[in-house]
Amino acid sequence: MHLSNLHTHSVFCDGKETIEHMAQRAYEMGLVSLGFSGHGPQTINLFGMRGETKYAAEVRRVAKLYEGRMKIWLGIEQDYFGYRTIPYDYRLGTVHYLDGRDGVVHSVDHSEESFERLLREGFSGDALAMAKNYYTREVEMCKRIRPDVIAHYDLICKFNEGGRFFDEDDPAYQALALEALEACCDGTRLLEVNTGAIARGRRTRPYPALRQLKRWRELGGRVTFGSDCHDAEKLICGLDAALEVMRAAGFRSIWRLGEGDELFVEEAL
Ligand SMILES: [Zn+2]
Ligand SMILES: [Zn+2]
Repeated sequence: MHLSNLHTHSVFCDGKETIEHMAQRAYEMGLVSLGFSGHGPQTINLFGMRGETKYAAEVRRVAKLYEGRMKIWLGIEQDYFGYRTIPYDYRLGTVHYLDGRDGVVHSVDHSEESFERLLREGFSGDALAMAKNYYTREVEMCKRIRPDVIAHYDLICKFNEGGRFFDEDDPAYQALALEALEACCDGTRLLEVNTGAIARGRRTRPYPALRQLKRWRELGGRVTFGSDCHDAEKLICGLDAALEVMRAAGFRSIWRLGEGDELFVEEAL
């Protein structure tokens, strides 16, 4: 299998390393293609990237250095609250924030403490209400942004391995997640299997959950791999686990960034 990753951060947002260093490590690890997906600017808080033009110019400059050896694509991770001022080769669509009933916009994935606050103060401990809010926002994000890839679809499960905060097997929860997935599939065909929480030691398994991946396949959707990399040494962290869950869901192929002119290419699993 040819190695590739489409979900990569750098010092232009909250990543640890420069574009050039990330590219160098990717090349040394044998990746045939690499996509940068800096957090785009957002209408709330200052977390999103500033200086899109500089970011894009740097990605294009480094892409030239690797021309003919490893293809580098310019992407963006665009949140529900995100926007962009320049064109990109591809866009990841994501949801990182929820409006709580307490009138506060809470982060879903910043830390375990912030997630606890979201659930306790934002939704009075009602996990189903939180999940409904989250998946509704996923659908809205997909309809508005029309991303090329839906990334970390069930991010509310980041800190929930073993059912710490809520029961992912609850049929009511499953119904919310699966119905929203169907609505998302209307516009976007590519779903990311994300291993970012494995790299951070938060989970042993990638997300989305197996049930959701199975439904995605039934809907005719495709899957891709993203390590949500913020640290060059973890560029392909969790790849084996991701491939395993894709196969378990019945997928026969994976889509990845191409090494030529084609943005996405299919490869047998
Ligand atoms: Zn994200
Ligand atoms: Zn990311």
